[in-house]
Amino acid sequence: MAVGWIMGAWYHLKLTELDRNYMYATITVWCFDRLMRIVRIIYSGVKSNADVRFHEGDVVTLKMNYSNRWKHYPGCFVFIYILRPNRFWESHPFTVMVPPKPVESNKLQITFKVKNGLTKHTKDFLFSSCGEELSANIPILIEGPYGRYHNLHLYDSVVLIAGGIGVTSTYSYAYDLIKNCSNEKQRITFIWYMHDRTPLDWFSEELDLLRSDSRVTVRIFVKYKELASASRYVDDSNSGLGEKYFTVVSQEITATSSDKTEVATLVSEAVSRGDPRIAFLSCGPGRMNDDIRFTISKSLSSSKSRVDYFEESFSW
Ligand SMILES: Cc1cc2nc3c(=O)[nH]c(=O)nc-3n(C[C@H](O)[C@H](O)[C@H](O)COP(=O)(O)OP(=O)(O)OC[C@H]3O[C@@H](n4cnc5c(N)ncnc54)[C@H](O)[C@@H]3O)c2cc1C
Repeated sequence: MAVGWIMGAWYHLKLTELDRNYMYATITVWCFDRLMRIVRIIYSGVKSNADVRFHEGDVVTLKMNYSNRWKHYPGCFVFIYILRPNRFWESHPFTVMVPPKPVESNKLQITFKVKNGLTKHTKDFLFSSCGEELSANIPILIEGPYGRYHNLHLYDSVVLIAGGIGVTSTYSYAYDLIKNCSNEKQRITFIWYMHDRTPLDWFSEELDLLRSDSRVTVRIFVKYKELASASRYVDDSNSGLGEKYFTVVSQEITATSSDKTEVATLVSEAVSRGDPRIAFLSCGPGRMNDDIRFTISKSLSSSKSRVDYFEESFSW
């Protein structure tokens, strides 16, 4: 498409005898961008492949080998090309995690929610060609790494809040803190909102790893399935259900129909503990991030702590 546009613009300028200097600049920037993308693919290893597996809840995981020339860091994402006959030319950004099993720590893992394009094609391929296992080994290209890193090591208390598939981002921060942060007194609260319980299956090894570290408290909020349509993040309609519909299922899991109430409670709990430096990192649907940011900003006036808020989102 870009090549077509450049050729069209080039001949139009020729016909009208206008100055072509802007075209030279545009072509240079475009070529440089393409070149850097190719360099990043080569740097990540051109012979990569991935163990691809489908999970209940319309989620797919890829465990990928790569050149190991660069190391995973939290906040890092890559563009993935799936080398199958249709759509091998498409690349999509996904957050990178390290698989929780130590033997796989030289691999990279991505976990994505199935949408309607490349992700759906991958799911359809697994269903049509891969038997009951719903898994396959597929050649891929990895373009990366991209993304910036928030230095959460510096805080006494870190609260990571994820909505749905946003957990890929908060988990990669939690993983980095438990593996690389020497502050034994740091408190890490890992909060995850989900529509149903299926993520507890495909993310069980990762959750076990977090639970094994005494600094981490895991809190999970599962929507009541039958009340899902009343959820603020699913539907804006005024359900009239109020905001206090939740039940504590276990010390870790709470069933809920309202995200807002607990966010406010959890934020004020974290702020009132009085740790000198507190970081919140949120990654979820836009409206959820908005609510969290608003709640934190409201709690600032009553807090003596330094409170910093970081946000990740999956829009592009
Ligand atoms: C930094 C970053 C990290 C991400 N990490 C994850 C992750 O860990 N897990 C996860 O599930 N998702 C993640 N995403 C979102 C993921 O990239 C999209 O869900 C995926 O690209 C959808 O692919 P699809 O072809 O199936 O989408 P479609 O169903 O075709 O589209 C879904 C959405 O993606 C947008 N989109 C698709 N292609 C393009 C494009 N070429 N340019 C602009 N917008 C486009 C569409 O506008 C639409 O809103 C991340 C996004 C970003 C920016």
